[in-house]
Amino acid sequence: MNLKNLKNEVLVQNTKNLIKEENRILAKVLAHFQEIEARKLYLELGYGSLFLFAVKELGYKEASAQRRIEAMRFLKKTPEARPMVEKGDLNLSNLSLLERVSREAQATHAQSVAALNLIQEEPTSAAESEAKLRGYFKLENKKRVVRIEMDEETYQLWLTTKAKLGEAKDAVALKKLCQSQVEKPQKKVRQAPTARTAGVVLRRELLKQAGHQCQYVGPINGRRCENRHFLQADHKVPYCLGGKTVQDNMRILCQQHNVFAYKKGPGTG
Ligand SMILES: [Zn+2]
Repeated sequence: MNLKNLKNEVLVQNTKNLIKEENRILAKVLAHFQEIEARKLYLELGYGSLFLFAVKELGYKEASAQRRIEAMRFLKKTPEARPMVEKGDLNLSNLSLLERVSREAQATHAQSVAALNLIQEEPTSAAESEAKLRGYFKLENKKRVVRIEMDEETYQLWLTTKAKLGEAKDAVALKKLCQSQVEKPQKKVRQAPTARTAGVVLRRELLKQAGHQCQYVGPINGRRCENRHFLQADHKVPYCLGGKTVQDNMRILCQQHNVFAYKKGPGTG
């Protein structure tokens, strides 16, 4: 099988077919998990739990074993989901998510089925799916825990900043500080269109216009990139070809798409 000769569309379609196949195999693996649990086979083989059996006997990494067991439990109590997995329309991430959230909400069977249909509607990112389900079950939104290492000087600066903001709680003070940065009205300064790169003001304007998100749109599927990190101001008509550093000729690309567009040549993406 020489993938190099495949057309782009065929390559994408083949990958999708393989993923469906992968989900169908997943359905079989999960059915086996369920039977092993029903027989308490892991106990017979000397493991204290199905989880330990999955890690030590089957060789899964801890997180992978956990997700499969969660998926199996959801399938067990919500058999309506099984045909969807067998058809390849429901994946492992969503199954384990459904189990975690429905368990936390102590969902009834009817609610689990409703949640299942909710998540099947359209493909979303893991975070979006989780937010959707949490909304449905009226669960509190997940709190993010961020651990930041800093030197003593920065820490003292932070304490001073918090005092100035009049907030004792780190999260509240940080939110105030970020809001003051994001929402500050900016003075417009015109920049010479012959400048090589976008200055701070133009860049800020471009980022705002782009909604702080990469503006690359796939030519085949019309999908816009969702990257929000390492964003760069890129010339549509390259500077070396006489493109001006003005808003109309600029767009925001993530680092990956900037390199990609550059390799593809001007006028793409
Ligand atoms: Zn991008």
